[in-house]
Amino acid sequence: MVERHNWTKEEILEIYNKPLMELLYEAATVHRLHHDPNTVQVSTLLSIKTGGCPEDCGYCPQAARYHTDIEGNDLMSVQQVKAQALRAKASGSSRVCMGAAWRNVKDGPEFDQVLEMVRTINKLDMEVCCTLGMLTENQAQRLAEAGLYAYNHNLDTSEDYYKDVISTRAFEDRLQTIDNVRKSNVTVCSGGIIGMGERLEDRAGMLVALSTLNPQPESVPINALVAVEGTPMEDMEPIPIWDMIRMVATTRIVMPKTQVRLSAGRTDMSREGQAMCFFAGANSIFAGDKLLTTPNPDVNEDMEMFRLLGLQPQKAFKKAPQPVTVEEEDSSIAPMGENPKWTRPGHKIERNEAARRRSKA
Ligand code: SF4
Repeated sequence: MVERHNWTKEEILEIYNKPLMELLYEAATVHRLHHDPNTVQVSTLLSIKTGGCPEDCGYCPQAARYHTDIEGNDLMSVQQVKAQALRAKASGSSRVCMGAAWRNVKDGPEFDQVLEMVRTINKLDMEVCCTLGMLTENQAQRLAEAGLYAYNHNLDTSEDYYKDVISTRAFEDRLQTIDNVRKSNVTVCSGGIIGMGERLEDRAGMLVALSTLNPQPESVPINALVAVEGTPMEDMEPIPIWDMIRMVATTRIVMPKTQVRLSAGRTDMSREGQAMCFFAGANSIFAGDKLLTTPNPDVNEDMEMFRLLGLQPQKAFKKAPQPVTVEEEDSSIAPMGENPKWTRPGHKIERNEAARRRSKA
């Protein structure tokens, strides 16, 4: 099956709404054409700087303006990160994803420290991913030179629903950062969250935005909202597992070569539910008892699930070669000290009552 870049919302909705058995069969068939169905990538997500974020993503407990009980911390040291990466590797992870609660990356000592973390983990022969907010082309190049394998920047939802979720940046800013990453040859990880009160059209709209990127993202995380007390989405009802299975299967069909990542919300899924997601084409999970700040199944539980299902963790660099690290002193790319004007649409994010009622219905 070839990669198509002209999917329409109608076509995607038609796939999403197929009778379940037909949808699963089609997704599993596409999956087997492009991936080993018994291999699942295991990534570890590390919050290297937690909380105090100036953004207002309605689902996120790390936004400074919401009153949640997460404990914030300053940027971790390179040694701390190295120790955690080694632990993750020993428990079967092939990728470390480092997340910092920033609006955008700023040139300076903190970014230099992150670059050093990237060099350090790449030398451990693990895939390194970062999610640091919006990024300029120069910053993407510097990360690439340090040995970054992937950059995560989620679209979260459809362009239409975006303004109901976030007001401090616009959908185009996300696309711009993805484009900056793409130019640097770092692979792209971008997906979204379901269960935020969006309509099915929004789920399809998000998949249109992702699948029409050329090339398509190498990795697409599908998250189920974890409704955290104190955020505007605290009262959202959990989504049924069937929605997750349908979303995974549809993602697999429209992005056949992509690594589809089963992300937040796994603690609420049974093993049977997760097994159906793997059958429908999910081939990556996050391991570790925390996903940035929200709960996640324990590594041992996941390994037991792998044993039951006969799954194997994927080895590092199966899909793309390991990047070469350029040492800081050999770098030819100088920081540009840019101060880009990312959008601030300025509307207000409040508890979305209409979406809340829909989710309860
Ligand atoms: S999702 Fe990221 S950008 Fe949004 S508030 Fe949370 S940490 Fe900040």
